[in-house]
Amino acid sequence: MIDPFGRTVDYLRVSVTDRCDFRCVYCMAENMTFLPKRDLLTLEELDRLCSGFIDKGVKKLRLTGGEPLVRKNIMQLFRSLSRHLDSGALEELTLTTNGSQLARYASELVDCGVKRINVSIDTLDHEKFAKITRWGQLGKVMEGLEAARKAGLAIKINAVALKEVNEFEIDHMLRWAHGEGFDLTLIETMPLGEIDEDRTDQYLPLSLVRQRLEETYSLVDIPYKTGGPARYVEVKETGGRLGFITPLTHNFCESCNRVRITCTGTLYMCLGQDDAADLREPLRSSEGNELLYQAIDEAIGRKPKGHDFIIERRGEGPSVGRHMSMTGG
Ligand code: SAM
Ligand code: SF4
Repeated sequence: MIDPFGRTVDYLRVSVTDRCDFRCVYCMAENMTFLPKRDLLTLEELDRLCSGFIDKGVKKLRLTGGEPLVRKNIMQLFRSLSRHLDSGALEELTLTTNGSQLARYASELVDCGVKRINVSIDTLDHEKFAKITRWGQLGKVMEGLEAARKAGLAIKINAVALKEVNEFEIDHMLRWAHGEGFDLTLIETMPLGEIDEDRTDQYLPLSLVRQRLEETYSLVDIPYKTGGPARYVEVKETGGRLGFITPLTHNFCESCNRVRITCTGTLYMCLGQDDAADLREPLRSSEGNELLYQAIDEAIGRKPKGHDFIIERRGEGPSVGRHMSMTGG
């Protein structure tokens, strides 16, 4: 799949559910309305859709959400998708999770061929963690991390940089993550969906975070790539890797290789734009994949050049109306 700007699309992210057992303040409103269950693709349909994309050249598949591990029988989907790893058609099957259910699923994930996972943790302070996630408990996530490590999963911690909330804890998180053998990636807040707070109050530019870290650490740019938009440095003092995802301070669209599907089978060609294509209808309207492939080709032919995020003030509305949990982070 090659888009109009010559970019090869070989990375698919699938939001398997819009539901979550947390309510992170930058991601969701506390009182979210979720999709009725009848609108969701079944696990069999998700498998068929993912397999279609693999057939069309997707090499890397990430399941995300909402919280992917709260979808009922989700391991069934991991297990069936693992056949594409066995055949060599798929290079990597991974997941982004809040870690709350990891203790239960870590070893099964490894059985299904998952080698690396991203776990989102924004603070190591139990009280702050409860405040940011509204419903989460850090202790449970830590148990999940331990189980994942024991099962042999490589772990990357994702942390959203939040002004005044974890702003002065990033140094501590860096030393903790690298001490544990985890990579750490910092993310700028993106204006996706209505939340209860003002995003300008949350936004912390990573250019500033990097500048501050450089007062203590030697950060050396390295060409390491995971297929995502993060740019990595090696931290000389810890020997670990630190990634920066900077959609606002540094736009990375020129190297975009991905598209996203929601749990209802809507294909979004860009996280930061509204244009989308419905794949549920072509998926359901025939048993063969011809209509589906046609719809995918048409959509890839409209993949936009890039996003144009700006951080809004309260009342101005987000750049994109849908939440991150719909298209997946
Ligand atoms: N529930 C899982 C988790 O938290 O890892 C997977 C889905 S979550 C939407 C994926 C990632 O998106 C998380 O790392 C989360 O911190 C990040 N995220 C959510 N809303 C965001 C926003 N508005 N701006 C930047 N990152 C966001
Ligand atoms: Fe749930 Fe992940 Fe969104 Fe937090 S960031 S509310 S864990 S989907």
